Amino acid sequence: MKHINIPIFIPHLGCPFTCLFCNQRRISAAQEVKPKNVIAIVEEHLSTIDSTKHQIEIAFFGGNFTALSQGLQESYLKAVNPYLQRNIISSIRISTRPDCISAANLRFLAAWGVRTIELGVQSFNDDVLKASERGYLSVDVFKACHLICEQVFKLGLQLMIGLPGDNYQRDMESTQQAIALHPDMIRIYPTLVIADTELEHMYAQGRYKPLSLEEAVKITADMLKQFQAQSIPVIRMGLQPSEELRSPGTIIAGPFHPAFGELVEQEIFKEQAHKAIKSFMMANGPHKTISIIVHPKDISKMTGHKRKTVSYLKEFYEIDELKIRTNTTLPRNTIEVDEAESTVS
Ligand code: SF4
Repeated sequence: MKHINIPIFIPHLGCPFTCLFCNQRRISAAQEVKPKNVIAIVEEHLSTIDSTKHQIEIAFFGGNFTALSQGLQESYLKAVNPYLQRNIISSIRISTRPDCISAANLRFLAAWGVRTIELGVQSFNDDVLKASERGYLSVDVFKACHLICEQVFKLGLQLMIGLPGDNYQRDMESTQQAIALHPDMIRIYPTLVIADTELEHMYAQGRYKPLSLEEAVKITADMLKQFQAQSIPVIRMGLQPSEELRSPGTIIAGPFHPAFGELVEQEIFKEQAHKAIKSFMMANGPHKTISIIVHPKDISKMTGHKRKTVSYLKEFYEIDELKIRTNTTLPRNTIEVDEAESTVS
Protein backbone atom coordinates (compact mmCIF):
# COMPACT_ATOMS: atom_id res chain seq x y z
CA MET A 1 0.00 0.00 0.00
CA LYS A 2 1.26 3.44 -0.86
CA HIS A 3 1.91 5.79 2.06
CA ILE A 4 0.33 9.23 1.88
CA ASN A 5 0.51 12.20 4.27
CA ILE A 6 -2.24 14.71 4.88
CA PRO A 7 -0.16 17.77 5.87
CA ILE A 8 -1.49 20.19 8.46
CA PHE A 9 0.64 23.25 9.11
CA ILE A 10 0.55 24.40 12.70
CA PRO A 11 1.71 27.83 13.77
CA HIS A 12 5.35 28.71 14.18
CA LEU A 13 4.10 32.03 15.46
CA GLY A 14 4.92 32.51 19.08
CA CYS A 15 7.77 30.04 18.92
CA PRO A 16 9.95 31.15 21.84
CA PHE A 17 13.20 30.28 20.06
CA THR A 18 15.31 32.52 17.89
CA CYS A 19 17.24 30.38 15.43
CA LEU A 20 19.11 32.88 13.32
CA PHE A 21 18.10 31.42 9.95
CA CYS A 22 14.37 31.43 10.71
CA ASN A 23 11.70 33.97 9.91
CA GLN A 24 8.65 32.47 11.53
CA ARG A 25 6.31 35.06 10.04
CA ARG A 26 7.37 34.50 6.43
CA ILE A 27 7.59 30.76 6.69
CA SER A 28 4.28 30.07 8.33
CA ALA A 29 1.89 33.00 8.49
CA ALA A 30 -0.08 32.17 5.36
CA GLN A 31 -0.37 28.52 6.32
CA GLU A 32 -1.42 28.79 9.92
CA VAL A 33 -4.17 26.32 10.78
CA LYS A 34 -6.28 26.51 13.91
CA PRO A 35 -7.56 23.27 15.51
CA LYS A 36 -11.12 24.10 14.45
CA ASN A 37 -10.09 24.16 10.77
CA VAL A 38 -8.35 20.80 10.84
CA ILE A 39 -11.40 18.69 9.91
CA ALA A 40 -12.10 20.71 6.75
CA ILE A 41 -8.52 20.21 5.59
CA VAL A 42 -8.56 16.48 6.32
CA GLU A 43 -11.92 16.05 4.52
CA GLU A 44 -10.67 17.97 1.50
CA HIS A 45 -7.64 15.69 1.21
CA LEU A 46 -9.64 12.52 1.85
CA SER A 47 -11.99 13.40 -1.02
CA THR A 48 -9.04 13.02 -3.41
CA ILE A 49 -7.48 9.87 -1.87
CA ASP A 50 -8.48 6.26 -2.55
CA SER A 51 -8.25 4.96 1.02
CA THR A 52 -8.28 1.31 -0.18
CA LYS A 53 -4.99 1.90 -1.98
CA HIS A 54 -3.24 4.15 0.52
CA GLN A 55 -2.01 4.01 4.06
CA ILE A 56 -2.94 7.49 5.28
CA GLU A 57 -1.12 9.48 7.95
CA ILE A 58 -2.02 12.93 9.26
CA ALA A 59 1.16 14.99 9.65
CA PHE A 60 1.38 18.10 11.81
CA PHE A 61 4.20 19.89 10.07
CA GLY A 62 5.86 23.23 10.28
CA GLY A 63 6.17 23.83 13.97
CA ASN A 64 7.41 22.57 17.29
CA PHE A 65 4.38 20.51 18.16
CA THR A 66 5.52 19.59 21.65
CA ALA A 67 6.43 23.21 22.43
CA LEU A 68 2.75 24.13 22.17
CA SER A 69 0.73 24.11 25.37
CA GLN A 70 -0.57 20.65 26.21
CA GLY A 71 -4.11 22.01 25.81
CA LEU A 72 -3.41 23.12 22.24
CA GLN A 73 -1.65 19.84 21.37
CA GLU A 74 -4.69 18.02 22.68
CA SER A 75 -7.05 20.18 20.60
CA TYR A 76 -5.21 19.23 17.40
CA LEU A 77 -5.00 15.55 18.29
CA LYS A 78 -8.64 15.44 19.44
CA ALA A 79 -9.74 16.92 16.13
CA VAL A 80 -8.17 14.09 14.11
CA ASN A 81 -8.85 11.28 16.59
CA PRO A 82 -12.18 10.20 15.00
CA TYR A 83 -10.27 9.36 11.79
CA LEU A 84 -8.01 7.05 13.77
CA GLN A 85 -10.94 5.45 15.60
CA ARG A 86 -12.69 4.75 12.28
CA ASN A 87 -9.45 3.37 10.76
CA ILE A 88 -9.54 5.98 8.00
CA ILE A 89 -6.01 6.98 8.90
CA SER A 90 -3.37 4.66 10.29
CA SER A 91 -1.28 7.08 12.33
CA ILE A 92 -0.27 10.62 13.18
CA ARG A 93 3.07 12.30 12.65
CA ILE A 94 4.43 15.41 14.35
CA SER A 95 7.62 17.44 14.04
CA THR A 96 9.40 19.15 16.90
CA ARG A 97 12.76 20.14 18.41
CA PRO A 98 15.06 17.77 20.33
CA ASP A 99 14.90 19.89 23.50
CA CYS A 100 11.09 19.76 23.52
CA ILE A 101 10.94 16.01 24.11
CA SER A 102 10.33 14.41 27.49
CA ALA A 103 9.19 10.97 28.61
CA ALA A 104 5.93 12.50 29.83
CA ASN A 105 5.00 14.20 26.56
CA LEU A 106 5.96 11.09 24.58
CA ARG A 107 3.49 9.08 26.66
CA PHE A 108 0.87 11.75 25.99
CA LEU A 109 1.53 11.64 22.22
CA ALA A 110 1.51 7.85 22.10
CA ALA A 111 -1.85 7.77 23.89
CA TRP A 112 -3.31 10.04 21.18
CA GLY A 113 -2.08 7.83 18.31
CA VAL A 114 1.10 9.67 17.29
CA ARG A 115 3.44 7.09 15.75
CA THR A 116 6.12 9.16 13.98
CA ILE A 117 8.21 11.99 15.41
CA GLU A 118 10.44 14.08 13.21
CA LEU A 119 13.16 15.97 15.05
CA GLY A 120 14.62 19.18 13.63
CA VAL A 121 18.16 18.24 14.62
CA GLN A 122 19.90 20.32 11.92
CA SER A 123 23.43 19.43 13.06
CA PHE A 124 25.22 17.20 15.57
CA ASN A 125 28.10 19.67 15.85
CA ASP A 126 27.89 21.83 18.97
CA ASP A 127 29.76 24.77 17.39
CA VAL A 128 27.27 24.81 14.52
CA LEU A 129 24.31 24.52 16.88
CA LYS A 130 25.65 27.39 18.99
CA ALA A 131 26.49 29.59 15.98
CA SER A 132 22.96 29.02 14.64
CA GLU A 133 21.46 29.85 18.04
CA ARG A 134 19.43 26.67 18.11
CA GLY A 135 19.40 26.70 21.91
CA TYR A 136 20.39 23.05 22.49
CA LEU A 137 23.44 20.85 22.08
CA SER A 138 24.09 17.44 20.55
CA VAL A 139 23.70 15.80 23.97
CA ASP A 140 20.04 16.94 23.92
CA VAL A 141 19.60 15.35 20.49
CA PHE A 142 20.92 11.99 21.69
CA LYS A 143 18.75 12.15 24.80
CA ALA A 144 15.62 12.90 22.74
CA CYS A 145 16.35 10.17 20.20
CA HIS A 146 16.87 7.55 22.87
CA LEU A 147 13.62 8.51 24.60
CA ILE A 148 11.74 8.34 21.28
CA CYS A 149 13.24 4.97 20.31
CA GLU A 150 12.42 3.47 23.71
CA GLN A 151 8.74 3.92 22.88
CA VAL A 152 6.48 2.98 19.96
CA PHE A 153 7.56 5.76 17.62
CA LYS A 154 9.25 5.89 14.25
CA LEU A 155 12.05 8.45 14.28
CA GLY A 156 12.72 11.02 11.55
CA LEU A 157 15.74 13.34 11.61
CA GLN A 158 15.98 16.64 9.77
CA LEU A 159 19.48 17.90 8.99
CA MET A 160 20.62 21.22 7.56
CA ILE A 161 23.80 21.92 5.62
CA GLY A 162 25.54 25.25 5.18
CA LEU A 163 24.64 26.65 8.62
CA PRO A 164 27.02 29.20 10.20
CA GLY A 165 30.15 27.38 11.37
CA ASP A 166 29.33 24.36 9.24
CA ASN A 167 31.65 22.69 6.73
CA TYR A 168 31.89 19.53 4.64
CA GLN A 169 33.66 17.55 7.36
CA ARG A 170 31.03 18.49 9.95
CA ASP A 171 28.20 17.52 7.58
CA MET A 172 29.76 14.10 7.07
CA GLU A 173 30.19 13.71 10.84
CA SER A 174 26.55 14.68 11.39
CA THR A 175 25.59 12.08 8.78
CA GLN A 176 27.50 9.38 10.65
CA GLN A 177 26.01 10.45 13.99
CA ALA A 178 22.53 10.33 12.45
CA ILE A 179 23.16 6.85 11.01
CA ALA A 180 24.30 5.62 14.43
CA LEU A 181 20.86 6.49 15.80
CA HIS A 182 19.13 4.19 13.26
CA PRO A 183 16.46 6.67 12.19
CA ASP A 184 13.53 5.52 10.05
CA MET A 185 13.83 8.51 7.73
CA ILE A 186 15.90 11.62 6.99
CA ARG A 187 15.28 15.05 5.47
CA ILE A 188 18.15 17.26 4.30
CA TYR A 189 17.71 21.01 3.89
CA PRO A 190 20.36 23.41 2.58
CA THR A 191 20.39 26.68 4.54
CA LEU A 192 18.83 29.64 2.74
CA VAL A 193 19.14 33.31 3.65
CA ILE A 194 15.54 34.37 4.31
CA ALA A 195 14.50 38.01 4.54
CA ASP A 196 14.28 39.63 7.97
CA THR A 197 16.42 37.10 9.77
CA GLU A 198 19.63 37.45 11.73
CA LEU A 199 21.27 35.43 8.98
CA GLU A 200 20.31 38.12 6.49
CA HIS A 201 22.19 40.72 8.58
CA MET A 202 25.21 38.46 8.79
CA TYR A 203 25.08 37.93 5.03
CA ALA A 204 24.77 41.67 4.37
CA GLN A 205 27.77 42.34 6.61
CA GLY A 206 29.82 39.62 4.92
CA ARG A 207 29.84 37.46 8.06
CA TYR A 208 27.98 34.59 6.42
CA LYS A 209 28.55 33.03 3.02
CA PRO A 210 25.85 30.64 1.80
CA LEU A 211 26.70 27.46 -0.08
CA SER A 212 26.53 27.66 -3.84
CA LEU A 213 23.94 25.40 -5.46
CA GLU A 214 26.75 23.23 -6.78
CA GLU A 215 28.31 22.82 -3.31
CA ALA A 216 24.95 22.05 -1.71
CA VAL A 217 24.18 19.40 -4.34
CA LYS A 218 27.58 17.76 -3.87
CA ILE A 219 27.38 17.69 -0.03
CA THR A 220 23.82 16.36 -0.08
CA ALA A 221 24.80 13.69 -2.64
CA ASP A 222 27.63 12.53 -0.37
CA MET A 223 25.22 12.37 2.58
CA LEU A 224 22.55 10.59 0.55
CA LYS A 225 24.98 7.88 -0.55
CA GLN A 226 25.85 7.12 3.08
CA PHE A 227 22.20 6.91 4.12
CA GLN A 228 21.37 4.75 1.11
CA ALA A 229 24.24 2.41 1.95
CA GLN A 230 22.55 1.85 5.33
CA SER A 231 19.06 1.53 3.73
CA ILE A 232 17.86 4.66 5.57
CA PRO A 233 15.28 6.45 3.39
CA VAL A 234 15.94 10.12 2.64
CA ILE A 235 12.40 11.35 2.13
CA ARG A 236 13.12 14.99 1.24
CA MET A 237 16.08 17.01 -0.01
CA GLY A 238 15.62 20.78 -0.26
CA LEU A 239 12.73 22.89 0.99
CA GLN A 240 9.30 22.50 -0.56
CA PRO A 241 9.01 25.31 -3.14
CA SER A 242 5.94 26.83 -1.44
CA GLU A 243 4.28 30.00 -2.64
CA GLU A 244 5.59 32.05 0.28
CA LEU A 245 9.10 30.82 -0.18
CA ARG A 246 9.01 31.71 -3.87
CA SER A 247 7.36 35.09 -3.39
CA PRO A 248 9.68 37.94 -4.40
CA GLY A 249 11.97 39.15 -1.65
CA THR A 250 11.71 36.07 0.57
CA ILE A 251 14.90 34.24 -0.41
CA ILE A 252 17.79 36.69 -0.27
CA ALA A 253 20.54 34.19 -1.10
CA GLY A 254 21.43 30.52 -0.91
CA PRO A 255 21.18 27.31 -2.87
CA PHE A 256 17.46 27.22 -3.60
CA HIS A 257 16.23 25.09 -6.49
CA PRO A 258 12.62 23.89 -6.88
CA ALA A 259 13.84 20.42 -7.88
CA PHE A 260 16.84 20.24 -5.55
CA GLY A 261 16.38 16.51 -4.83
CA GLU A 262 16.48 15.68 -8.54
CA LEU A 263 19.74 17.61 -8.92
CA VAL A 264 21.21 15.52 -6.10
CA GLU A 265 20.14 12.25 -7.71
CA GLN A 266 21.51 13.40 -11.07
CA GLU A 267 24.84 14.18 -9.37
CA ILE A 268 25.01 10.62 -8.00
CA PHE A 269 24.26 9.16 -11.44
CA LYS A 270 26.97 11.35 -12.92
CA GLU A 271 29.51 10.03 -10.40
CA GLN A 272 28.42 6.43 -11.02
CA ALA A 273 28.66 6.93 -14.78
CA HIS A 274 32.17 8.33 -14.36
CA LYS A 275 33.29 5.20 -12.51
CA ALA A 276 31.52 2.84 -14.96
CA ILE A 277 32.96 4.54 -18.08
CA LYS A 278 36.43 4.64 -16.56
CA SER A 279 36.45 0.91 -15.78
CA PHE A 280 34.89 0.09 -19.18
CA MET A 281 37.66 1.99 -20.96
CA MET A 282 40.35 0.47 -18.77
CA ALA A 283 39.10 -3.01 -19.66
CA ASN A 284 38.27 -2.39 -23.33
CA GLY A 285 40.46 0.53 -24.37
CA PRO A 286 39.26 4.00 -25.44
CA HIS A 287 35.97 4.06 -27.37
CA LYS A 288 34.43 6.87 -29.41
CA THR A 289 30.88 5.50 -29.11
CA ILE A 290 29.47 3.88 -25.98
CA SER A 291 26.10 3.17 -24.38
CA ILE A 292 25.03 3.71 -20.81
CA ILE A 293 22.27 1.34 -19.74
CA VAL A 294 19.84 2.20 -16.95
CA HIS A 295 16.38 1.20 -15.74
CA PRO A 296 13.70 3.06 -17.79
CA LYS A 297 12.58 4.98 -14.69
CA ASP A 298 16.12 6.33 -14.19
CA ILE A 299 16.55 7.95 -17.63
CA SER A 300 16.09 11.56 -16.48
CA LYS A 301 18.42 11.04 -13.51
CA MET A 302 21.05 9.79 -15.96
CA THR A 303 20.69 12.35 -18.72
CA GLY A 304 20.44 15.32 -16.34
CA HIS A 305 18.53 18.54 -16.96
CA LYS A 306 18.65 19.36 -20.70
CA ARG A 307 21.00 16.33 -21.15
CA LYS A 308 23.68 18.23 -19.24
CA THR A 309 25.24 15.06 -17.79
CA VAL A 310 25.44 13.42 -21.22
CA SER A 311 27.17 16.47 -22.71
CA TYR A 312 29.56 16.65 -19.74
CA LEU A 313 30.56 12.96 -19.98
CA LYS A 314 31.00 13.16 -23.77
CA GLU A 315 33.35 16.08 -23.39
CA PHE A 316 35.25 14.61 -20.44
CA TYR A 317 35.92 11.25 -22.14
CA GLU A 318 36.13 12.69 -25.68
CA ILE A 319 33.28 10.47 -26.82
CA ASP A 320 31.56 11.22 -30.16
CA GLU A 321 28.37 9.38 -29.36
CA LEU A 322 27.00 8.48 -25.92
CA LYS A 323 23.71 6.61 -26.11
CA ILE A 324 21.37 6.03 -23.19
CA ARG A 325 19.67 2.64 -23.42
CA THR A 326 17.18 1.09 -21.03
CA ASN A 327 16.79 -2.35 -19.55
CA THR A 328 13.80 -3.17 -17.35
CA THR A 329 15.67 -6.05 -15.68
CA LEU A 330 18.40 -3.75 -14.39
CA PRO A 331 17.89 -2.76 -10.71
CA ARG A 332 17.00 0.89 -10.09
CA ASN A 333 19.90 3.27 -9.44
CA THR A 334 22.47 1.14 -11.26
CA ILE A 335 24.42 1.83 -14.41
CA GLU A 336 26.04 -0.43 -16.98
CA VAL A 337 28.32 0.61 -19.82
CA ASP A 338 28.60 -1.23 -23.11
CA GLU A 339 29.52 -0.78 -26.78
CA ALA A 340 26.96 1.47 -28.50
CA GLU A 341 24.12 -0.32 -30.28
CA SER A 342 21.64 0.91 -32.83
CA THR A 343 18.56 0.15 -30.63
CA VAL A 344 18.29 3.35 -28.68
CA SER A 345 15.52 4.15 -26.24
S1 SF4 B 1 13.50 27.20 13.27
FE1 SF4 B 1 11.85 26.38 14.49
S2 SF4 B 1 12.58 26.53 16.60
FE2 SF4 B 1 13.87 27.90 15.39
S3 SF4 B 1 12.86 29.90 15.54
FE3 SF4 B 1 12.10 28.90 13.69
S4 SF4 B 1 10.20 27.92 14.34
FE4 SF4 B 1 11.36 28.39 16.20
